[in-house]
Amino acid sequence: MTMNASPFNQDWWNRKFSKVPGLEVRFDESMSRHTTLSIGGPADIYVLPDTEASFEDLLGLADREQAPVTVVGGGSNLLVQDGGIEGIVVSLRRLARLEEHAERDAGILVAGGGLSLARLLRFCAERGYTGLEWASGIPGLLGGAVRMNAGSFGFEMKDSVESLSLVDRSGRTHRIPGSEIPFRYRDWGLEGDRFVLAANLSVGLAEPVDVLNRITLYLEEKRQRQPVSDRSAGSVFRNPPDGSAWKLIDEAGMRGAVEGGVRVSETHANFFVNDGTGTAEQFSALLDRVKRAVEETAGVRLEPEIHILGRVRSIHV
Ligand SMILES: Cc1cc2nc3c(=O)[nH]c(=O)nc-3n(C[C@H](O)[C@H](O)[C@H](O)COP(=O)(O)OP(=O)(O)OC[C@H]3O[C@@H](n4cnc5c(N)ncnc54)[C@H](O)[C@@H]3O)c2cc1C
Repeated sequence: MTMNASPFNQDWWNRKFSKVPGLEVRFDESMSRHTTLSIGGPADIYVLPDTEASFEDLLGLADREQAPVTVVGGGSNLLVQDGGIEGIVVSLRRLARLEEHAERDAGILVAGGGLSLARLLRFCAERGYTGLEWASGIPGLLGGAVRMNAGSFGFEMKDSVESLSLVDRSGRTHRIPGSEIPFRYRDWGLEGDRFVLAANLSVGLAEPVDVLNRITLYLEEKRQRQPVSDRSAGSVFRNPPDGSAWKLIDEAGMRGAVEGGVRVSETHANFFVNDGTGTAEQFSALLDRVKRAVEETAGVRLEPEIHILGRVRSIHV
């Protein structure tokens, strides 16, 4: 029989956390349901807070109990190991408010960390806000996109972050101006655990139809370049300075390389796609093979862009 022998189980939760209101809780929740790769073993405890206050309370108590906490967004840049994730995994999907500044000319949107980029863009197209169209087709949530400093077509999240509401590991929330976040390539540059509760985004004003046209154009471009309808986690490796990871992978002859149910995409060699039977072990084996091949042919050490979380093996008893 396979079962989770982690100390962070239902009994533990019921003893310590059952009084925190506003949380939906699931035990041994398969993370393959919450990643765009459809890969990942079970989270010991998977929690969806209904409100910002319930998330803050959860963090405060988890800190006092010294329980591991992992916050996930859309799971679109994640490889979760086959052994799942120890402790509490929090999805902020329900913290998805979206408000316009009282004065439209101020060009500020207030958005929850759990808001999907897709919904944010729909709103921008309806209400005539410009500046974020480049993000069309990125399947993440706002908090994950800020954390990753997601970018495309020469734009990045950092260009639009006016300020962030960040909650720390003890559940205290602070407002930080965007100018104080040391954003860099595909990373926000902050040390330690801090989580995006909400962001104030700077946007310009434009005709709704023009915004919609740009969103559609970027999406079309992305569809041509990337395997958007396959199960993937976006770019596997960061681009090296002055180079493209996909080009190096291609030149190393690894386009189409396969490990079990995971293959290097024929459409974009820096995307690995899962045919539905793949595992994290296979994904990691392919990642190592590709990395070695590029190092041998080009002398470049590629670094992963995806975040790898969790325990390597399942626990059997
Ligand atoms: C088809 C496809 C296309 C893509 N195209 C692009 C692209 O053009 N450009 C690009 O940059 N990326 C792209 N990606 C990658 C990915 O979508 C982005 O990095 C996205 O911003 C990740 O957001 P997420 O919510 O899914 O984060 P997740 O993958 O869930 O998490 C990523 C990291 O952020 C942390 N995190 C999540 N939420 C929060 C929060 N609220 N506060 C603090 N930390 C948090 C997680 O712990 C993890 O470390 C693509 C992915 C796919 C599958």
